[in-house]
Amino acid sequence: MNPNFLQTPIDYLKGVGPNRAALLKKELGIHTFQDLLNLFPNRYLDRTQYYKIGQLQKTNAEVQIIGKVTHIKTVSQQRGKRLVATFLDETGKMELVWFRGHKWIKENLKINQLYVTFGKTNSFNGTFSMPHPEMELLETHEKSIRSAMQPVYPSTEKLSNSGITNKVINGLMQQLFLETKKGFAESLSKPLLEQLKLISKSEALFNIHFPKNQALLARAQYRLKFEELFYIQLQLIRKNLINKTKIKGYSFDKIGENFNTFYKEHLPFSLTNAQKRVIKEIRNDLGSQAQMNRLLQGDVGSGKTIVALLSMLIALDNDFQTCIMAPTEILSVQHYNGLLELCKGLNTSISLLTGSTKTSIRREIHENLENGSLNILVGTHALLEDKVKFKNLGLAIIDEQHRFGVAQRSKLWHKNVYPPHVLVMTATPIPRTLAMSVYGDLDISVIDELPPGRKDIKTVHRFDANRLKVFRFIRDEISKGRQVYIVYPLIQESEALDYKDLMDGYESIVREFPLPDYQISIVHGKMKPADKDFEMNRFIKGETQIMVATTVIEVGVNVPNASVMIIESAERFGLSQLHQLRGRVGRGAEQSYCILMTSHKLSADAKTRLETMVRTSDGFEIAEVDLKLRGPGDLMGTQQSGILHLRIADIIKDTEILKIARSYAMQVLKGDPNLASEENKPIKLTFAQLTKYRNIWNYIS
Ligand code: ADP
Ligand code: MG
Repeated sequence: MNPNFLQTPIDYLKGVGPNRAALLKKELGIHTFQDLLNLFPNRYLDRTQYYKIGQLQKTNAEVQIIGKVTHIKTVSQQRGKRLVATFLDETGKMELVWFRGHKWIKENLKINQLYVTFGKTNSFNGTFSMPHPEMELLETHEKSIRSAMQPVYPSTEKLSNSGITNKVINGLMQQLFLETKKGFAESLSKPLLEQLKLISKSEALFNIHFPKNQALLARAQYRLKFEELFYIQLQLIRKNLINKTKIKGYSFDKIGENFNTFYKEHLPFSLTNAQKRVIKEIRNDLGSQAQMNRLLQGDVGSGKTIVALLSMLIALDNDFQTCIMAPTEILSVQHYNGLLELCKGLNTSISLLTGSTKTSIRREIHENLENGSLNILVGTHALLEDKVKFKNLGLAIIDEQHRFGVAQRSKLWHKNVYPPHVLVMTATPIPRTLAMSVYGDLDISVIDELPPGRKDIKTVHRFDANRLKVFRFIRDEISKGRQVYIVYPLIQESEALDYKDLMDGYESIVREFPLPDYQISIVHGKMKPADKDFEMNRFIKGETQIMVATTVIEVGVNVPNASVMIIESAERFGLSQLHQLRGRVGRGAEQSYCILMTSHKLSADAKTRLETMVRTSDGFEIAEVDLKLRGPGDLMGTQQSGILHLRIADIIKDTEILKIARSYAMQVLKGDPNLASEENKPIKLTFAQLTKYRNIWNYIS
């Protein structure tokens, strides 16, 4: 088979006209033969049995029946019409019903010919009916590629309404296999196939679409999952190797005055072992000849900031500039103030650049960056603007990675002649297996130890009905000098409503905690940055006791005296968000509390989330549960659906295969980095094709 055959536009497949082609492209992203081949079934139905109408039971199971249609009629109902066909076999009669697509059915359904119908049955007044059955003429059914297991393909309402049913897709697949004569090029090497006892590519593709039996289906799935994960890992590892060997980085071999002075004289506490280990890892990277690309994972409050600062000081000691970028204005300001405080005894210049920086100051910053007199730049996305040009950026630190996309990360990269070292910090613990697939191009450091003396945060779940008790508790804590956060969900789709909830809540808090005894701050996304900062700062300084806020405070804010976190409508938050929010308290010496307020109506998932929060404060455990509940798509709090667009493998269920795929990908590249050997030829070819038609970044949004 011509290797380019599979890149033929889908329009050229027999049975696909321009209309169908347009729909397949739009609805399923199928542009080529290859895309169709890679449309894998969601599930399989066992169609080894044929039922008689007389045997039907009220089970709601999906069954197939052989019989013929004798009449069709249109029946008016309350809303619209339904099309009803009478369907007979030798044991009885039933009804086939359509609520949509009447025209197509009327024109195409053949009266008094034997069909195989397939679908769920309902029973009403002793008569069985089958809504929207799949139908195939018995004659065609007998001629089709015989397969006991009926594949069910992904579909959309638009497709099925336009007559592109599962059966049609199945037919197209048969056509495709006829044209290719089952000859698909092998995409893995012989040694891999042998070592892992994998079935061939052709056999796997055939059995994924037309499984002969359960056992072969299982082997086909395993082989294709392995292949998918193998090539992702191959790309990631290869990229990493290339970075290591080919992307030269500035070598920071001096550990100089800034670092040493700070370490000896200004370190505000002794570092935890985890912090020391991570700094060592970073120092090694910075001192090598290669560019650093490191992900630093550390739970909220684990002390990533000091690690960032020490890394920046190494850059300064080697006469390079450095920057730290944070996702929000408040967080940037806090980093800026924190760094100013920590660097008091050092001879460094630090500036803050955000969206609300005045033009005159902005100009000054641009100038000082270009002439090199500015050492450290702290800020938001504003750092990525084209006008921001460093004289010699040596290290870029990105706090809270999940808010920045890959594209933004690489944008910083292009600021320089040579790429700066990059340290990405995230407080969202990403399970290792996932980190491996998503951030496989980054090295990973983990701070897995909290600073000493942290007390566990007592977490409870309370229903709205107990609000008065909760208010009493807040009053008690405030009388002890503590501060309290009360957080409301603000989720974009229902913004107006959420905003109303927030304001109603605020009013009731103001009533409950009146002036002059109580001072209350409020911060939400609709406020001007200056007003937000003003309110935030009142709370930071302790001038207000209660902070009513939306999730704008989620990331990074540090107020050690705040010891109570109340989360309203907690059932509406995701686990990682709840965990992040809880991390705002427990930063001081006092016992801290997190109270999750909910209504009585809770979904099963919401219950699991709340129970998990009450049970544990281990970020990695929470991340695992989160991953199971939501799938990887939402994990990093992104709104995109799906970080990894996998076709067949499941990042949660197939972690074992992922591990195997990763280790084999490493083994292959270690032995043959350029995939130049004869035995790796199929891998090299497939790899080239994949990267040509589907770059790794397509997997990562
Ligand atoms: P995060 O990892 O969430 O960014 P921070 O860097 O903000 O955490 O640190 C949280 C708090 O813990 C800060 O108040 C910081 O000063 C303090 N801290 C960090 N490291 C230590 C340590 N080794 N010993 C004591 N306190 C520490
Ligand atoms: Mg932080």
